[in-house]
Amino acid sequence: MSRLLVGVCLVLLLTACGPKQLEPDDSFVCDNCESWNEPQTPFRIYGNTWFVGTAGLSSILVETDEGLILFDGGLPQSAARIDANIRELGFDPLQLAAIFVSHAHFDHAGGVAALQRLTKASVYTSVEGAKTLSSGELQANDPQYLMGAENTRFPAISGVVTVGDGDVIAIGGVDIKAVYTPGHTPGGMTWAWESCALGGCYNVVYADSLTAVSADGYKFSGGPAAQQIIDSADAISLLDCDILLSPHPFFFGLQEKLQKLGDGNPFVNNVACSIYAENLLGWLERRLQSERGMSPLAVPDLDGG
Ligand SMILES: [Zn+2]
Repeated sequence: MSRLLVGVCLVLLLTACGPKQLEPDDSFVCDNCESWNEPQTPFRIYGNTWFVGTAGLSSILVETDEGLILFDGGLPQSAARIDANIRELGFDPLQLAAIFVSHAHFDHAGGVAALQRLTKASVYTSVEGAKTLSSGELQANDPQYLMGAENTRFPAISGVVTVGDGDVIAIGGVDIKAVYTPGHTPGGMTWAWESCALGGCYNVVYADSLTAVSADGYKFSGGPAAQQIIDSADAISLLDCDILLSPHPFFFGLQEKLQKLGDGNPFVNNVACSIYAENLLGWLERRLQSERGMSPLAVPDLDGG
């Protein structure tokens, strides 16, 4: 048998034996996991940009000339849902070339390892975020570090590629801009790209969670995270932004906007990023006031964010 033929046979054998589709895995348990992981029918947001996440956790798919790219992988048990959603839209998950992570918490990065194993996609995040993704454990400078194992561990990811603030990653005709937005985590990332269709071209911003949520006893006042949230909110408000997306669908009103689909495109709103940034500063101020004993804690109703 020729060496070429042996090679072809080996490839066929590996393909036949390799993982074809992710199986549901509910072994990871947390207070909100079940509701966050409720199914969500995938849909097109605009042009090359699709929602393939779950009811409570965003995963955004972008089609390029050289394969697919994905933003965030939800919980460990979300990976099978994301895989199925990508297929439901008629795409092949094995065409996934890259996965970009917003922040390294179990509810957005937990499913990435399984998706990476399935697709061999490269995984991108910030230098600080990569430390957590690579180990599967929060670093001590994360405000949620002492929240307990269920909130601080997730499957580790190998071969994470780090990007710098302001870097542009070009994949198949789509330029993905990397913007460092720490505060909720030390390595939080916001990603931005352009999406074009018959209605024109729009700037899409996948703005990270920037809620001041922490383990008991952690203080934002006096530490670096509060100033980071202020600076990151500023950075988000300054981006060219026509469509705001973020790691929790709640943050950009996904359900309300879905109800209005067909009546124009409710996801297009060029002040949404500015409003998001203002809300972030309001939430931070309430958190700082509560730390000073001036008001009860009133951050958004999200465990982790
Ligand atoms: Zn988080």
